[in-house]
Amino acid sequence: MMKFKDLELSDNIINILQSQGIINPTPIQEQSIMLIKEGNDVIAEAQTGTGKTLAFLLPMFENMSPDVSTIQGLILTPTRELAIQITQEAKKLKEAKDLKILAAYGGQDITAQLKKLKGNIHLVIATPGRLLDHLRRNTIDLDGLNTLVLDEADQMLHLGFKNEVEAIIKQMPKKRQTLCFSATMNSQVKKLAYKYMNDPKIVVVEKKEITLKNIKQTLIETTDRRKQDDLCRVLDEDNPFMAIIFCRTKRRVDKLEEDLYQKGYNCQKLHSDLTQSKREKVMKAFKRTDVQYLIATDVASRGLDISGVSHIYNYDIPENAESYIHRIGRTGRAGEKGYAYIFVAPKDRASLEAIEKEIKLKIPRKILSSSNESSEETEPNTQSPKRKYSKRVNTNPKKFFKANKGKDKKGR
Ligand code: AMP
Repeated sequence: MMKFKDLELSDNIINILQSQGIINPTPIQEQSIMLIKEGNDVIAEAQTGTGKTLAFLLPMFENMSPDVSTIQGLILTPTRELAIQITQEAKKLKEAKDLKILAAYGGQDITAQLKKLKGNIHLVIATPGRLLDHLRRNTIDLDGLNTLVLDEADQMLHLGFKNEVEAIIKQMPKKRQTLCFSATMNSQVKKLAYKYMNDPKIVVVEKKEITLKNIKQTLIETTDRRKQDDLCRVLDEDNPFMAIIFCRTKRRVDKLEEDLYQKGYNCQKLHSDLTQSKREKVMKAFKRTDVQYLIATDVASRGLDISGVSHIYNYDIPENAESYIHRIGRTGRAGEKGYAYIFVAPKDRASLEAIEKEIKLKIPRKILSSSNESSEETEPNTQSPKRKYSKRVNTNPKKFFKANKGKDKKGR
C-alpha cells in the first residue's frame, strides 16, 4: 500500500494528517497528488467521500508559499455549503503551513471579507458570484494565480455558471495550472474543460455504477396527489437516522417542509432563498443530528460530506441521471450502507427511463399496499430502525409546539 511519504508530502503535512486519523492515501489521492505537485493540469473523476478535496488541497499546500504575497490558489465551487466544507478542510492544514485562506461566498458580510483582504491572502475558496463581485471592485487580484480548481467541474462549466466562470478565467494568467474535479464529467463538459486546460492528465477512480453499490435503491410508483402521503408512509416505516428529501423547486421545499412540520416530523429546509446565517444554522443542526430530515433543493446534492445520512428521498424526480447520482451519493458514504428512494408519478415516466438507461439499472419497485403496511418485491426490511430512532420523531406536534414556544415564530 502506498504511503503519503511516497507521494513526497512534507513531514509537517503528514503529521497533521496523522493527527486527524488520516494515515494512508485514498486511490484518488494516490493518483493525483504527484501529478498536481508536478504542475500538471488534471481532470479527476471521483465522488465526494473518496478524499477528493485533500487530493487537490495537499499538493496545492505543498506548492504554495506563505512568503509570496499574492493569491496563488483559487478553488471555485457551485454552492456556499461546499465552499465552507472545503475551507474547513483547508484550515486544518494551516498548522503545517501558515497560508492565509479566504472563503468568499454570497450572503456573507462583504466588509469583513474586504478587511481580511487587506492582509495577504494565498488561497481563495469561493462561489463564482461573490468572486466576480470582488473582481469588479478590484478587491481581489488574480494576476499571480498559479492554480485554479473547479470543484464539481461539470456543474461549473454548465449553463448556470459557465458565463461567470469564463469571466473569472479571463482575469487570471493564461499560464497556470487548472484542475477539474467532479463525480461526473460527460464528454461535452470534458470538451469545454479542455478549452481552459493544457494537456490535462485524466484520473478516474471509480465508475458511476460502482459508486452506487453501497446504496439500496427503491422506486415508489405514486401520483402527484398521493405523493405526500406515500412519502410519510415510507418515512414512518424507515424512521431513518438522518435523511435528505429532495424537491424540484424552492417553493416545493417550502410547502413540503411546512406540511411535514405540521405533521410532527423533525425537519428543516435548505435552499438558496434562505439567508446565509440560516443556511449555516440548518447545516450545523443537521450535522449535529438535531434535525432528522433535511428538505432541500439540489443545492444540497453536490459534494456535501455529511456522515450519517442514511436515507435519500427523491420526492421529486431529479432532472437527469447526473443529478440522481449526486443526490443519492449523499448516502452510502465511507463504505456504509445507504438507502435511496425515488417517487415517480405517471408524468415522470420519460425522465425515469432516461435515468435508468444512464445508470444501467432498473430500480427495484416497491409497492405500497393500500393498508398502512407495505410489501416489497425485493428483500424485506428486517431491521427496526423506528424503535431505534423514534425518540427523534416529533410525533405529537401540539406537545412539540408547546415545548418550543417562543423560540421563533415557527417554534424553532
Ligand atoms: P471528500 O471526498 O473530499 O469529500 O472527503 C471525504 C472525507 O474523507 C473527509 O472527511 C476527509 O477528511 C476524509 N479523508 C480524506 N482523505 C482521507 C484518507 N486518506 N484517509 C481517511 N480519510 C480521508
